[in-house]
Amino acid sequence: MSEIKPKIKKPRGKARLIDGKCIACGARCQSSCPVNAVEMTDAGEPIILSEKCIGCVKCVKICPAEALEMFFTPEELKILNELAKTDTGAVEEEVDEEEAALKKMLSAYRGVWVFVEQTEGEPAKVSWELLGIGAQLASSLGVELCALVIGDKVEHLCHEAFEYGASKTYLIDAPLYRNYRTESYLAACCHLIDKYKPEVVLMGATGMGRDLAGAVATRLATGLTADCTGLAIDNKRNLMQTRPAFGGNIMATIMCDKFRPQMSTVRPNVMPMPEKKKGAAGIIVRDDFAVPEENILTKVIEIIHDANSKGRVDITGAEFIVSGGRGMMCPENFAMLQELADELGGVVGASRSAVDAGWMPQDRQVGQTGKTVRPKIYIACGISGAIQHLVGMQDSDMIIAINRDRQAPIFEVATYGIVGDLFQVIPSITKKIRALKAQGSGDK
Ligand SMILES: Cc1cc2nc3c(=O)[nH]c(=O)nc-3n(C[C@H](O)[C@H](O)[C@H](O)COP(=O)(O)OP(=O)(O)OC[C@H]3O[C@@H](n4cnc5c(N)ncnc54)[C@H](O)[C@@H]3O)c2cc1C
Repeated sequence: MSEIKPKIKKPRGKARLIDGKCIACGARCQSSCPVNAVEMTDAGEPIILSEKCIGCVKCVKICPAEALEMFFTPEELKILNELAKTDTGAVEEEVDEEEAALKKMLSAYRGVWVFVEQTEGEPAKVSWELLGIGAQLASSLGVELCALVIGDKVEHLCHEAFEYGASKTYLIDAPLYRNYRTESYLAACCHLIDKYKPEVVLMGATGMGRDLAGAVATRLATGLTADCTGLAIDNKRNLMQTRPAFGGNIMATIMCDKFRPQMSTVRPNVMPMPEKKKGAAGIIVRDDFAVPEENILTKVIEIIHDANSKGRVDITGAEFIVSGGRGMMCPENFAMLQELADELGGVVGASRSAVDAGWMPQDRQVGQTGKTVRPKIYIACGISGAIQHLVGMQDSDMIIAINRDRQAPIFEVATYGIVGDLFQVIPSITKKIRALKAQGSGDK
């Protein structure tokens, strides 16, 4: 009979800092660590928490100054020496083990979730837009599309979520959650994610969504891609998250293939609204998770609505937008755009150059650092079509560009392009519309 030897586990060691070699590169070692075993000093140097370190070597590999090394105890070194003599397959086995553990972790997460943002029970439209793209992702993955509703007396939002495509909603409904507070919503979200393990979580890139998504991703030690403009699934169930990068000069597709859930935020109006199916129903999963009020440092005393917002134009919801750029030459010329917008029942937008020049207020800016719009008709007047502008308006149903430079990049995205002087073209369009309207009312 042959003797079966007990398998000796290969020691992995612990990472440690080599004195005087750290160049404080910006915490690359910390961000590479999958188990949060690296803390940073004020001087930007790492402290390795050896009780947490799993010896994965990621921090050692990423360090640009070779300031980290693996440390083995004398006993561990002895085992390593023994193994080196006898077991050549140990390394491969270890890699297999790591891969199997990763696979197991990834397969524990299933489902696409959309956080339904609400203020005083009023939903943010972006949540329904996210259910639209969420349905496509869920169908590619072959999983359920679920909504996550947190608030006070917000059950009606579950029913609305069903009408926009969710088949299940997770609901936490209690007075504690009446107003958004990071601590309570963060705890509630993490509780549900830990319990039900969705593989994708989407939130609106609004003030609330940006705050919550960042906090949740940090608490769960997973990845988050902000301001995505495209979402799709690859052949390994990974979420491909596309967004402008390097000042908008390239579109980057970002993946989070080793952590779950995969989290993205998307700005309002980037994704199309799904069709509303009146009366559609689904399953509501209630959860009575609560955070002790005394643990929540933020108290909402009163909600004061912005008085200045009365009369302020919200370009994001407009069906017709007439936008002006540097080609408008001065603020007074925007009156011409207002006239055309009035005839169409629309609003006036602007490029960043026009805003930076002080010709239009910031809330009219369209683009990467402004608003994303998706009107029925977008008329770009004297706008060259820089990528940072295009990402904010390229999904409009129809784009009409007026520019005297026929090489202007705006013509590449335009449905109709007019090469000419806007000071002649715009008044004649306005005149024509007025004439058509007068003719229309005369015919009646
Ligand atoms: C990080 C970052 C973020 C940015 N975010 C934004 C953003 O959110 N939104 C944004 O818009 N930009 C943004 N920008 C700026 C962007 O790169 C461009 O500089 C800007 O969009 C250019 O504005 P414009 O098209 O009005 O001006 P220009 O590029 O100067 O174009 C003016 C156009 O007007 C035309 N023109 C001039 N006179 C006439 C006339 N009489 N008749 C017809 N056509 C005429 C010209 O041919 C020209 O094409 C950002 C840049 C960076 C780096």
